[in-house]
Amino acid sequence: MIHALRTMIECHWSARRIQRHLDADPSAPLAAADAQRLEAHLAVCDRCDAELSGGRGVKAALARFGERRGGPDPARVARLRLQAQRLSHGQGDR
Ligand SMILES: [Zn+2]
Repeated sequence: MIHALRTMIECHWSARRIQRHLDADPSAPLAAADAQRLEAHLAVCDRCDAELSGGRGVKAALARFGERRGGPDPARVARLRLQAQRLSHGQGDR
């Protein structure tokens, strides 16, 4: 029970950081300790790991798209962004 609660808290915490982790946003970097905590949780949590993989998929798709066309189609980028946002925020606010 305590374990489940702890996992839930970690999931909530991680969900809010996965996108930042993926973006490696230089203006809002994860602290080393936070990155470590996130990695540790991802290693044991299938749900958050799947979320990270989903986000990586979107990012990779964007990169591939940009390479192929010399620039991404804005409408498609917006759609993928929205999808990525849903992936990273969708579970946090329940
Ligand atoms: Zn989790």
